[in-house]
Amino acid sequence: MKLHEYQAKSYFSREGIPVPRSRLATTPAEAKQIAAEIGYPVVLKAQVLVGGRGKAGGILLVKDENDLDPAANAILNSKIKGISVQRILVEKAVNFTQEIYLGITVDRALAQPVIILSASGGVEIEELAIRHPNRIIRTAIDPLLGLQPYMVRAMASQIGLDYVLWKPLLQIALSLWNLFNQLDATLVEINPLVITTEKELVALDGKMTIDDNALFRQQDFLELADQAVETPAEQEARKFCLSYVQLSGHIGCLVNGAGLAMATMDCIQQAGGEPANFLDIGGGANADKVQAALRIILSDENVQSVLINIFGGITRCDEVAKGLLSILPENTRNLPIIIRLEGTNAEEGRRMLAQAPNLIVVESLMQAAEMAVHAAESAMV
Ligand code: GDP
Ligand code: MN
Repeated sequence: MKLHEYQAKSYFSREGIPVPRSRLATTPAEAKQIAAEIGYPVVLKAQVLVGGRGKAGGILLVKDENDLDPAANAILNSKIKGISVQRILVEKAVNFTQEIYLGITVDRALAQPVIILSASGGVEIEELAIRHPNRIIRTAIDPLLGLQPYMVRAMASQIGLDYVLWKPLLQIALSLWNLFNQLDATLVEINPLVITTEKELVALDGKMTIDDNALFRQQDFLELADQAVETPAEQEARKFCLSYVQLSGHIGCLVNGAGLAMATMDCIQQAGGEPANFLDIGGGANADKVQAALRIILSDENVQSVLINIFGGITRCDEVAKGLLSILPENTRNLPIIIRLEGTNAEEGRRMLAQAPNLIVVESLMQAAEMAVHAAESAMV
């Protein structure tokens, strides 16, 4: 999950990383009021979760009050790489002499976090990475020992950073490392970290990505999640802790366990069909979770038939049946639902489902897959 610049910066300030004064606005009038409080010149910054906003017109410098309205209107009515701008950050403009890049991310090849520093940060960093990769310094961090001050000093020396800035850089790097760890981030990045004309380091931009697999223990972010980048189905799935990935086929799948879900998708393929989604309800799912899962599938217009594959261990088949029965009235398109139900309390589950409308209980997974594919194909001719 990606955080907006304004969210990242609020974590930065909490950790003592210097950021310019700023506040969020949703209208030009609000932006004007904030600018008056902060003092001109200000920078208006589109809060959209894409990189390269500067080059795409999402960052505008406003010198005085007269220029504010047109600039705020322009950004708020624009789309940055296809995403319409709902909010802008109104930020005190900073005069700087140099833009530095500082970030911490995971190097998958090394299987370790790495800290990255470059003397030439800013909007051309990608270009620099291609043309002059040696100007970007990377140091692996032992996750158990953590970021050590000597590493940062060595990097500061390598990029030729003015000695008076070593200490502030070290403090910022250590704060960034704290955030990276505490927030289960896969990326924390300041680009640019500028050297101001007063010879201070200030974070002008902030990017953070939180590991989705850690969201269960990072509760603040569940509320911060950006509604604009997630489909309603994905939001719903996240709320119920379901692993859901939308795909392009026509057969909705509801399965307990990721491996079983993949095997189920293979069977659908083998039977000549394409899955409409991957959906794992996880182990020990209760009726509410099953209900939410089937609701997501039924509300997908691409779905022409549904294949449910449950192998109950900790998951109880009667609980699954209860969840399914509660949602069947919402099957207003009368989609055929094929279910294979095995394991704990399977007989009880099957008995409960025996009379359910549009629902067929079958014995084997392959048979279920064939029936689901056939049903979807008949619906589409
Ligand atoms: P990005 O393009 O999405 O990475 O957005 P950034 O927040 O990094 O802004 C892009 C560029 O705008 C920066 O690299 C700076 O050169 C410039 N910029 C951003 N804020 C300020 C500011 O307060 N003062 C000045 N002079 N330039 C700024
Ligand atoms: Mn940037």
